[in-house]
Amino acid sequence: MSDLTRLSAVEIAGLVASGETSAVEVTQAHLDRIGAVDDRVHAFLHVDTEGALAAARAVDERRAAGDELGPLAGVPVAVKDVLTTKGVPTTVGSKILEGWRPPYDSTIVERLRAAGTVMLGKTNMDEFAMGSSTEYSAYGPTRNPWDTDRIPGGSGGGSAAALAAYEAPLSIGSDTGGSIRQPGAVTGTVGAKPTYGGTSRYGLVAFSSSLDTPGPCARTVLDAALLHEVIGGHDPRDSTSIPAPVPDVVAAARLGATGDLTGVKLGMVTEFIGEGAEPGVMAAFRDAAEALAKLGAEIVEVSCPHFKYALPAYYLIAPSECSSNLARFDGVRFGLRVGDDGNRSLEEVMSLTREAGFGPEVKRRIMIGTYALSSGYYDAYYGQAQKVRTLITRDFTSAFEQVDALISPTTPFVAFPLGSRTADPYQMYLADLFTIPTNLYGGPAISVPCGLSDGLPVGFQIMAPTMADDRMYRIAAALESAVGTLTPPTI
Ligand code: GLN
Repeated sequence: MSDLTRLSAVEIAGLVASGETSAVEVTQAHLDRIGAVDDRVHAFLHVDTEGALAAARAVDERRAAGDELGPLAGVPVAVKDVLTTKGVPTTVGSKILEGWRPPYDSTIVERLRAAGTVMLGKTNMDEFAMGSSTEYSAYGPTRNPWDTDRIPGGSGGGSAAALAAYEAPLSIGSDTGGSIRQPGAVTGTVGAKPTYGGTSRYGLVAFSSSLDTPGPCARTVLDAALLHEVIGGHDPRDSTSIPAPVPDVVAAARLGATGDLTGVKLGMVTEFIGEGAEPGVMAAFRDAAEALAKLGAEIVEVSCPHFKYALPAYYLIAPSECSSNLARFDGVRFGLRVGDDGNRSLEEVMSLTREAGFGPEVKRRIMIGTYALSSGYYDAYYGQAQKVRTLITRDFTSAFEQVDALISPTTPFVAFPLGSRTADPYQMYLADLFTIPTNLYGGPAISVPCGLSDGLPVGFQIMAPTMADDRMYRIAAALESAVGTLTPPTI
């Protein structure tokens, strides 16, 4: 393996800026690594070799011309296949978009290009970002580099596995109920969900619009912060984008890395530290919490009594929004069209296309959502879930009157064997027990590796108030300085 693939984004950017290595060399090293391992990992759905090398050459030319390069110029990045990429296939892990080449870049991708990062390709995901294992991808599962018989988390398993397999130093995910943080936790990498509205949804194929949040994935907290800074900030093309500057997450990560948390008060969520999590996960979490206390943080317990209703509320709100959002996949406008032989009605073609194009989990969600929104049931299901959402938000706001941030394990269990939870959807949904409340509230949350349980990574979750993303990075970087990063076994 080339050493270049082992470096952090900060290190790569430094070498490119100083001319010690070229962006083309860095890119080629990562493309070679993908070529060597991705048949075993399957992190990528599409590798854009030509596009990546062209982008790298452009960075090298700008450097040669003496242009000022941004902090991530020349750094390769892998992008979850939920974001549109101009002229580059975008499938959302679904057959229904097979072959679609979007005519435009999502805002996130546009900003990645403007920053001089090099897009390597598109990463595998559960179909339409619905799932926790990447096994619901229509293109076959991604495997966890820590143990290729185990899941890499989901829905953004490809983005996380690409990092852990050293195929990319940075990647982009999207988090609707945990799809950045849970894959980060089970692959021993860092995954941050920004404040809702802090990163643009323009060009993000919609699952649940009031929850969907694109965000950074990396192997270190500082790398994640640098990526967050590049992709974040107001976008007038997204109606829920927050018209405010990105909090200074990079300075916060640097401050946190000094390892001083004096004056910071953290709340362990009572409801998440009792039953629910595996003993090995709890042990690693508690050790890490103790490490934070040694850095000066005061740690107390805070009860959030409505968090236990987050999972059922989410599984009404997210499917309801998805049933509406996915109505646009009708066999007319994008991708797949089935049965259009000139004799069938439009309705028949739509029905055949959706029958063939959507997988079982997506169909399940569309049906649940359609039911929850139907007249006569709306108040009892969707309306009730929205009320629960308000109560969960109140739990957060009252907790943040007592503490600066909340902490918990990211997931109740470590990476599970492929195939072990696909038969029972509820078992799959439980993977997001600890991540979902934050999505319903809208605040930022991050998963940082905090140790191993039975040789598999455990994630530590830090949840902060809305727009306090910088505070979250400070605590995350402090934790990383205390417990270190995890190195996956070589594959
Ligand atoms: N696993 C959750 C779900 O299936 C979360 C997905 C996500 O965050 N995109 O809905």
